[in-house]
Amino acid sequence: MTTIADRLAVAQSRIAQAAQKCARLPHSIHLLAVSKTKPIADIIAAYDAGQRCFGENYVQEGVTKIESLKTTHPDIEWHFIGPLQSNKTTLVAQHFDWMHTLSREKIALRLNEQRPANLAPLNVCIQINISDEDTKSGINAQQMLPLANSISQLPQLRLRGLMAIPSATDDTEQQTRELSELKHLFDTLKQHYPDVDTLSMGMSNDLDLAIAYGSTMVRIGSAIFGERDYSSKETTI
Ligand SMILES: *Cc1c(COP(=O)(O)O)cnc(C)c1O
Repeated sequence: MTTIADRLAVAQSRIAQAAQKCARLPHSIHLLAVSKTKPIADIIAAYDAGQRCFGENYVQEGVTKIESLKTTHPDIEWHFIGPLQSNKTTLVAQHFDWMHTLSREKIALRLNEQRPANLAPLNVCIQINISDEDTKSGINAQQMLPLANSISQLPQLRLRGLMAIPSATDDTEQQTRELSELKHLFDTLKQHYPDVDTLSMGMSNDLDLAIAYGSTMVRIGSAIFGERDYSSKETTI
């Protein structure tokens, strides 16, 4: 039987190989283990294999896990990567280290206000809707710099970069177009805000291309933890 540790090692070596192919340092690409819907035991198994960054999509589920592990595993870095309604911002501000899906000024203001003063500023990425699908969250390219400007004035937020979920397609040309556009946006953002260091893009199906186009953080779930089972799950979103 393959274990979580085995699958984590496979994911790490895929990252290393993809990095090598485009002459990047493997260490410049972080692996975010997406543990949504998975039990705490699975997170601990990945932790014991060396993983420290975990991504969660559902606020309440994430907070429950953070609370359970905070004394025993205080060095876990928790990333919120799901859609966030404004009535749930407090929980994210109080418990998470990162928030990847920021796309509205209103949410930024609330997170800033609700981030406890004794915690480090919340690391945030602006989510870009690169495929311009109405159904996807995120903002379009023209709105990036205005939102970045607002965020840069909020002391309890730290702008780290961009996040995107490119189209799930086998069309390599379309993937390439979207990823290169994201890379271009990231470079533009970096020119204005030189501290920005994170391009959160790339999942199991587009890992190699995403890394070739400058991704610094890939988000991988089922390839590490196995397929998700939503059947027994209450709606905790
Ligand atoms: C679920 C999720 C992932 C991981 O997806 P897998 O197919 O399980 O690898 C990555 N990013 C986001 C934003 C997700 O919601």
